[in-house]
Amino acid sequence: LAHFQCPANKWSKKAGAEVYRRLRVEFPWYKDVSGRVTKNAIDDLDAAYQHFFRRVKLGQKPGYPRFKKKGISDSFSIREVKKFRVEGRWLRIEKLGTRIKMSQLIRWEGEHRQVTIRRSPDGRYWASVLVRVTNYDVRGGEGSVGVDLGVSKLATLSDGTEIPSNQPLKRGLKKLRKWQRKLSRKVKGSNRRARAKLKVARIHQRISNQRKATIHELTDRLTRGYGRVVIEDLNVKGMVQNRSLARSISDAGFGMFRSTLEYKARLRGVEVVVVDRWYPSSKTCSSCGAVKEDLSLSDRVFRCGCGLVMDRDHNAAVNILRNGEDALRPTEKRAEERCETSACRSSRDDAANETCL
Ligand SMILES: [Zn+2]
Repeated sequence: LAHFQCPANKWSKKAGAEVYRRLRVEFPWYKDVSGRVTKNAIDDLDAAYQHFFRRVKLGQKPGYPRFKKKGISDSFSIREVKKFRVEGRWLRIEKLGTRIKMSQLIRWEGEHRQVTIRRSPDGRYWASVLVRVTNYDVRGGEGSVGVDLGVSKLATLSDGTEIPSNQPLKRGLKKLRKWQRKLSRKVKGSNRRARAKLKVARIHQRISNQRKATIHELTDRLTRGYGRVVIEDLNVKGMVQNRSLARSISDAGFGMFRSTLEYKARLRGVEVVVVDRWYPSSKTCSSCGAVKEDLSLSDRVFRCGCGLVMDRDHNAAVNILRNGEDALRPTEKRAEERCETSACRSSRDDAANETCL
C-alpha cells in the first residue's frame, strides 16, 4: 500500500482520513461497513500518537503505537448515538441489514452513548454498550463489616453471614485441568489439537467470566450493605503456592477483588480498611483476645478456654473488623479504653498513658 502513504509521510488526522478516502475506492467491501468504524479507528490512532509524542517530550520511553493484527483484540466501536440502537435484546448497527440478538438486557437506564463490538479469543462476539445512567444507585450502606475470605466458602462476614463459593467456577477449573491434559497429548499441527485448543480457550473465557461475576456480586453486596468494609491484605502469591491455603477468592483473584471493592466503595462513599496480613485473625479469640497457636486448618470450630465456641471463619471476620476499627481510632483513645481498671483509672490523672498499657 506504499502508494497510499501520505505525501509528507508524517501522521496527521487529516492525512489518515485522506488515505482512507482513497482506500475506500480501491476496496469496495469498505461500503459494507459503517464509515464510522474507520473514522473511529483513525481517531484512536491519532490519540495513540498524541499520547506517544506527549510522553516522548516528557523524556519518557513510551512504546510506539502498535499495528493492529488480525486475531488479536479484534474490535471496533461506533460512537455516534444515531448510528446504532438497542431495543430490548436487539442491537442494530448502521449498514448491517440484520439485527443482532444479545444474550442479556442492558441493566442500566439512560442514553446509549457508544457500542464496541469485540471478538474474544474463543471466537465469540461481545457488545459493550456505554450508558449515561439515570438510575444508578450510588448510596452505600451503614455500619461496619469485617470480611474473612474463605477456603471452602467464598467469604464469611463478621455478622455471621456466609457467602458460598461459586460452584460452577470450581467445576470449570476441574474441567480446564482435564482439557489442558488432553491438549498436551495431541499432535502439534493436527486438527484434533486445534479443536482441543479452542475448547481450552472457551473454558478459560467461561472461568474468567465466572470469576468476574463472583467478584462483582460480593463487592456489590458489601458496598451496598455497609458503610465501612474491613478486609485482610492477602499475600496472593504465597497463598496460591500453598494449595491448602488456596482460598476461593485467590481463584477469583484477590487483586481484582480489592480493586473492584475499592472503586465501588469510592463510588458509593464507603470506606475500605485493609488490615495487616500478619495479624492472626483466625488464631485469636474474638471474645477474650487469647491467641491459640496450635489451631490447625482442619479445626472448623474455634473453641477457647473462656467458653467461646464459634465458627472458625466467623471468629476471624469479627477479629478483622475489630482490628480495622482499632487501626482507625487515635492511639490516645485506645489507651484510655484499655485502662478502665480501678488502678489505672486512679493513676491516669497523674501518670502518663504508657504506664497503663
Ligand atoms: Zn477466649
